[in-house]
Amino acid sequence: MKSYGSFTWPRRGRGKPPVPGAVSFAVMTPTLLDLPPAEARTRIAAWVAARGLPAYRAAQIERRLWTNPVGSWSEAAELPAGLRQALEQEWPLPRLTVASLETSADGTRKFLWRLADGEAVESVLIPSGARRTLCISSQAGCALGCVFCATGRMGFRRNLTPAEITGQVREIILRDPADRPTNIVFMGMGEPLLNWPAVDVALTILNDAEGFGIGARHITVSTVGILPGMEALRARPEQFRLAISLHAPRAEDRLGLMPIEKKYALNRVLAEAKRFGRRVTFEYVMIAGKNDRDEDADRLARLAQPLGAHVNLLPLHPGGAPGLLPSSGNRMRAFAGRLQSAGVEAVIRRSRGLDINAACGQLYVEMEKKRRPAAAARAG
Ligand code: SF4
Repeated sequence: MKSYGSFTWPRRGRGKPPVPGAVSFAVMTPTLLDLPPAEARTRIAAWVAARGLPAYRAAQIERRLWTNPVGSWSEAAELPAGLRQALEQEWPLPRLTVASLETSADGTRKFLWRLADGEAVESVLIPSGARRTLCISSQAGCALGCVFCATGRMGFRRNLTPAEITGQVREIILRDPADRPTNIVFMGMGEPLLNWPAVDVALTILNDAEGFGIGARHITVSTVGILPGMEALRARPEQFRLAISLHAPRAEDRLGLMPIEKKYALNRVLAEAKRFGRRVTFEYVMIAGKNDRDEDADRLARLAQPLGAHVNLLPLHPGGAPGLLPSSGNRMRAFAGRLQSAGVEAVIRRSRGLDINAACGQLYVEMEKKRRPAAAARAG
């Protein structure tokens, strides 16, 4: 079993883009919510035994972390008052607080969470029939600067801890257990595979039966193609899904949209996707005149065919990217039709939450716009 005892957690790293394996770190004590359930269970059992308490107390405590969570130990009515107090002191439960919540006419809800150090990240809860997909963030800000992305324009702030990543799920359940997410996509703020140590633990917490118990096939990690992270994800035995933010089928066009193409070239990313051994999804934001020509569709089809990749065509979120326009509905349908006639499974995704700035990073950018003039006024 892996040991997480010597885990190091990121500190704020403003202005310093993360390089895989070389992010600045500061050692902090992980909370129970930062640990994989098996590790948390071991620590709780040892703590319970050291206090001379019956062993069943450990299982009761563990259940309150993820399966039937409480916001604070004082809410765990099945535990004696003294034990609740001791837990509060020894193992406080970190929380995310809601900085803003917007609900779209289509039922999509967008949360801006405030973290303990003042940073903020977003999650989007998208209901669709019995399915409730939660789009979660893995970093505050992002260093990768994709031109169509509001988060990219913020720059990198810091990596999230496992408790902050999975806390986005936990807080939703605490607010209303009926909203418990059935599907998770790592498509919020940040590049998850540039925060692999924390995302690795978060995947375990999300999937483990003693964690949130969400099936691995219902958890999708979306990446621009960070090769070391893709290899690490491939090494995991669970059937987690992989989505690749492709956005242009030619390297030179992709470089114009996504600077990461320079470090991890498309051909290498696709070779690693082939090694992944499971079906992958290509995410493709359609931008008028940039990547939506017939020849782009034909090239994209040639990339998708050998992988059996599924293609999600996403309308560019209006307002998310100054200077860029979404492809028209007709263009998107023609593009999808060309892919389909080449035997590629392609779906046009509806843009959800159009009325609430639901594109990744937009809510944060709106909040900063409001905050900056206020801060300037305070500073005279
Ligand atoms: S699209 Fe993803 S990787 Fe690109 S800047 Fe936005 S958050 Fe970062």
